[in-house]
Amino acid sequence: MAWRFFSFLVCQLAAGLLGWWLGLARGAAVGLVSGGMLWLALDTWRGARMLRWLRQGAVSTSPPAGGMWGEASSRAQRALRLRELEAAEARHRLEEFLAAIGASPNGVVLLDAQGRIEWCNQTAADQFGIDPQRDLMQQVTNLMRDPAFAAYYHSGSFGRDIVIPGPRSLPSRPIKLAVHLHPYGEGRKLLLSRDVTVLEQAEAMRRDFVANVSHEIRTPLTVLTGFVETLQTLPLDEEERERYLTLMAQQAHRMQTLVGDLLTLSRLEGSPLPGPGEWTPVTELMTQCAQEGQALAKAVGKSSQQLRFGEAPAVEIAGSSRELLSALSNLVSNAVRYTLATGAIEVQWRALADGRGELSVRDSGPGIAPEHLSRLTERFYRVDRSRSRETGGTGLGLAIVKHVVQRHGAELAIDSTPGLGSTFAIRFPASRLRAMLSPPSGTPAQSATESLEG
Ligand code: ADP
Repeated sequence: MAWRFFSFLVCQLAAGLLGWWLGLARGAAVGLVSGGMLWLALDTWRGARMLRWLRQGAVSTSPPAGGMWGEASSRAQRALRLRELEAAEARHRLEEFLAAIGASPNGVVLLDAQGRIEWCNQTAADQFGIDPQRDLMQQVTNLMRDPAFAAYYHSGSFGRDIVIPGPRSLPSRPIKLAVHLHPYGEGRKLLLSRDVTVLEQAEAMRRDFVANVSHEIRTPLTVLTGFVETLQTLPLDEEERERYLTLMAQQAHRMQTLVGDLLTLSRLEGSPLPGPGEWTPVTELMTQCAQEGQALAKAVGKSSQQLRFGEAPAVEIAGSSRELLSALSNLVSNAVRYTLATGAIEVQWRALADGRGELSVRDSGPGIAPEHLSRLTERFYRVDRSRSRETGGTGLGLAIVKHVVQRHGAELAIDSTPGLGSTFAIRFPASRLRAMLSPPSGTPAQSATESLEG
């Protein structure tokens, strides 16, 4: 500032002296005015240059002037550079933030105060069938036409989310989306969406399961209660009492079996996968199943059934012997229960050409129509409800088999012809099999290979 004042004085003094030299007092006065004007013109020119420089926004080039204008330019340049840096950083942060939202597995849509789409991530675009470029600034209610969503949007009450079908939902492949609106800023809204198809399916399965279990338990309980009331109120003779008590014991046993199967299922679902350290000899499995099968056949009055066990190999399976036994027992139990007393059942081990091993249960029972095959392993699925109950079935046997098979990396193959019989085969991968370290003494399967009549 001092320099500016000094330069103005020097300029005026020089012009005044020049005027004095040319025309004494009058010349000096003219000189002083001219000097001041010249200084002002020069100063205005430099100011104009700086203004041009600022207008062009050429912050990267050096300021065009020195002195006070120069300093103002430098300071303006520094301030502009700082702002540019801050803006670049903010842009970078925004891009990172959007990229993070973009990578979210949940859908995110930003709506303006008029309900138009300002931005959406790819997940939301996929879920709602929105084009993130073309549909920008479109009314969200024009694009998401589900009546439940429209009602929710216009209600203004967003305390909870709603579940709507996705636009690509089909009756055969339903898609369910949970949508939640969150108001923010001045009338703006944040729309969050989540694909809850699997959750909804699991919830529906849970509901069905609870309903099925309740139904299965209620039936024998109702029968039991009825018998208890009869015993309490009617004067029965010894023979009748005995008959009622036998029926009651049957119903109690039915409930016991059901609870047992339910516990087995929950254990299978909740426990860690069987480790590779436990080895179960196939011969042991076959021997135990032979004994159980024979006992069951006797118990259900089918002692004449032909129950044959093939030769047991000197092979071990990696996995839980308890689970493997439970799976094979269920298959043998089904075969015994569904096959007539005059029928035949054959359990055998076969080494497949690709190194896998197959444990199969074949029966000459009623067989199963093809349309039921894919659903047999569902919990409580029965081809013939009354026959399953009559024979003491719970509807959970094959569900248990499926779980055990999956937990051992194996596969379950069902082959059945109505009227001719069925074969249930468990195929174990080669990686789970090994030759027995000490081969079995005698063939346990042979001892089981007998007709129950014999
Ligand atoms: P359940 O306790 O009713 O036998 P499962 O899950 O073991 O339940 O079997 C499901 C259904 O599959 C049975 O209800 C039955 O209709 C059918 N099924 C299973 N095994 C056989 C078989 N060996 N022969 C004919 N039908 C069978």
